[in-house]
Amino acid sequence: MKKYAALFLGVAMLALSAIPASGKEAPYYEFSLGSAQIQVLSLVEKDLKAAILQPGTEAQRAAITRAYPEGNIRNFLNVLLLRGNGIVALVDTGFVWTGPELDAALRHAGITPEDITHVVLTHAHSDHVGGLLREGQPSFPKAKILFSRKELAYWTNPANRAAASEGARKIFQEMDIILREYGDRVSGIEPGTDIWKELPGIQAVDEAGHTPGHIGIRVTGDNKTFVFWADLLHAFAVQADMPSLSSDYDMDPAAAAQKRTDMLRQARAEGWLITGSHMPFVQPRALTTTTAP
Ligand SMILES: [Zn+2]
Repeated sequence: MKKYAALFLGVAMLALSAIPASGKEAPYYEFSLGSAQIQVLSLVEKDLKAAILQPGTEAQRAAITRAYPEGNIRNFLNVLLLRGNGIVALVDTGFVWTGPELDAALRHAGITPEDITHVVLTHAHSDHVGGLLREGQPSFPKAKILFSRKELAYWTNPANRAAASEGARKIFQEMDIILREYGDRVSGIEPGTDIWKELPGIQAVDEAGHTPGHIGIRVTGDNKTFVFWADLLHAFAVQADMPSLSSDYDMDPAAAAQKRTDMLRQARAEGWLITGSHMPFVQPRALTTTTAP
């Protein structure tokens, strides 16, 4: 009897829930680890150009062509919802223009923007912070806004702004508006320590490289580890096996490659369940060990 109960719980924990939102099917996936209830919410499917990848070898070039013959990388744009013991935390918010999809995803989860207690931003790129504002106003009236301390320090440093390219300057401007609108509700967190004492086992993971303070989110519980690795990689079909391959989106391609190599090795060695912001799947999975990074 006990055995069957455990089996049933295991199945229930990993039950897939794909519910129509905005009149169309949107993939959502929910499960729990320890006392944290976790939902991966996909806002849209979006193609990235395979030309963003920076192959350094013939083998990498060939792998890219094989994986993406049309030159397009089809991914979901995933955000995360973490709940438990009074915490209702959204990890990333999508673009400004995916606001309606974010609303639909929250409705699916049975919550309103007012219910969100915290928004954790994995980094300051516009496909992650865009949903913080709606027509220039805060989308989450009661939420605390959390960046890694390093990310916040980088994008608020006048010297970095002065040296920035035109594209990067837009990120500084967007951060100005976020800081103006959310004021002292914006603060920094440190990777490697629990984000909430009320909901232990949830930590930011230092993934500096893609941006200076880029983080993933790690949830541990029930002897399992789940990692939402944000923008650690953008082209899963090639970068999971060739982690030295960076993309134009990585601000420091060498640091990003090193971080990717280390994280993928650890993910395989420790059997992490993973997904990320730009992945061809929503439901977290363990990496195959057929190819070593
Ligand atoms: Zn991104």
